[in-house]
Amino acid sequence: TTVAAALSTVLSLSLAGCGESSDTGSGGGAASVGIVMPTKVSQRWINDGQNMVDELKGFGYKTTLKYADNDPKTQVAQVEAMIADGVDALVIASVDGRAFKGVLGKAKAAHIPVISYDRLILGSDAVDYYATFDNVKVGHQQADFLVERLGLVNGTGKGPFTVELFAGSADDNNTRFFYDASMEVLKPYIENGDLIVRSGDTELEEVTTLRWDGVAAEKRMNKVLDSDYTDQTLDAVLSPYDGMSIGIIKALKKHGYGVPGKPLPIVTGQDAEVPSIKSIIGGEQSQTVYKDTRELALVTSYMVNSVVHGKKPAINDTSTYDNGEKVVPAYLLEPVSVDKGNYESVLLDSGYLKKSDLK
Ligand code: BGC
Repeated sequence: TTVAAALSTVLSLSLAGCGESSDTGSGGGAASVGIVMPTKVSQRWINDGQNMVDELKGFGYKTTLKYADNDPKTQVAQVEAMIADGVDALVIASVDGRAFKGVLGKAKAAHIPVISYDRLILGSDAVDYYATFDNVKVGHQQADFLVERLGLVNGTGKGPFTVELFAGSADDNNTRFFYDASMEVLKPYIENGDLIVRSGDTELEEVTTLRWDGVAAEKRMNKVLDSDYTDQTLDAVLSPYDGMSIGIIKALKKHGYGVPGKPLPIVTGQDAEVPSIKSIIGGEQSQTVYKDTRELALVTSYMVNSVVHGKKPAINDTSTYDNGEKVVPAYLLEPVSVDKGNYESVLLDSGYLKKSDLK
């Protein structure tokens, strides 16, 4: 309901901001928007791209949507081509947040507004706005779930417990936000000895996972289990993304977890992707963070429509997202922690997933 309230504020503000004008930007036909997304490996980005196209079409825009196969150079070239084509606005969900400095200089020179989608573009003053989820809250929700489930919060859990930590791709600005927020929660327990990280890997640089790759996460989990848990049980794993959680669970099962007497550790996640919800229902993955990408596309398309008309879009954060060149005004949506107990009410009742998806 808070999300719905926030959204209706955005909508009314944006509609008010857009006035009566029916001009769609550059003279002549419909204005066009270039949209770039990182990868089709993960269902969420496929949905994001389609949702953006649908929302912008609803406003009467032409759209070009490109996926970069997780390759920064490809993505920069895609944006460059869109600028050359004379798009009226750019929506960028970056692979490498630092790769756009040069190309966005060209967008700025051509007066093309740029919106950072989900992931913040770093090192460029050409980023006009940022639409995303509250990334600090995401990290808190993942770590809160771990310590609550272990019973460390209400004191029912008899520690110490072992935990291993995973983070996302180092070139994604969100990675640091998620990890730092999670560590804010976990650090006191690590310091007082209730949580033990036997691998010793607690610094962000030691636990990142290039391009959020599930196979890379699986490999690291295998390695850590082989070197640090031959005579010890692993109780919990902080995983920042469902695709990695699935890989981590594979490694755990290979090491004998997930049978009577040796339950799987608590494993977190993010994105409420179908394989992970199935895994949660089946009692394997423990948690995920649901981010309603339909709302992100809606907010972003209102942002686009505002900036194309030279109006200020609705924002609700002006202090968190410093990209090194400027603090980018942002609209943050609310993430929701999901587990076996609430997946139906959160994911099915909202229509985000259908019961038939989970068969
Ligand atoms: C997004 C997450 C996603 C991750 C991997 C992050 O930038 O915010 O929702 O799980 O990328 O795709």
